Amino acid sequence: ALFIERLTLKNFKSFGGTHELPFAPGFTAIVGPNGSGKSNILDGLRWVLGESGAARLRITRQSDLIFQGSAGLSEASETDVTLDLNDGGARGSLRRHLDAAGGTVYVNGARMRIQDLTQFKQQWRLEGDRSAFIGQGEVGAAVLQKPFQRRLQLEELFGIDLYRKKRDAALDE
Ligand code: ATP
Ligand code: MG
Repeated sequence: ALFIERLTLKNFKSFGGTHELPFAPGFTAIVGPNGSGKSNILDGLRWVLGESGAARLRITRQSDLIFQGSAGLSEASETDVTLDLNDGGARGSLRRHLDAAGGTVYVNGARMRIQDLTQFKQQWRLEGDRSAFIGQGEVGAAVLQKPFQRRLQLEELFGIDLYRKKRDAALDE
């Protein structure tokens, strides 16, 4: 089964320097005190998967993604996030870089346009909202969802919506 093998944050948000976060298959919980960077890890994951919306990344400008320095470390001028995936031993990687000159995306080491991420994500079954993020503050909304909305979201999450779409398309013909 597909799982995240490693997320490497380099001068991303509060993560000054290079931080390799290894993950195991199955369920992962990230715990830590307030402000310690838990949500920033998920922002890194969203960003490397192609998210560019400032609100969803909890920033006001793109440069807020770059480590701004802390007591012991000086600020950085560029940031880099790498996501290593493993699907039954098959490996894939995404890397996204940002500096003053702009952003760059690499798929399995080759430079790509951000639009080309779609193909990689389809290949790795990460397209659409299948990699579902329920952000901090969205839990309440998720809990209060009407049953039908919740069902649609779960269908999307498990990939069942594809069959509904195919059926609807077939009925249209
Ligand atoms: P909570 O438990 O309250 O949700 P959290 O562990 O999710 O906390 P984050 O939101 O991930 O915490 O981290 C917030 C911290 O990250 C803040 O202290 C903020 O100053 C810091 N931070 C965000 N962007 C940067 C940046 N570019 N450079 C340095 N620090 C940053
Ligand atoms: Mg948080």
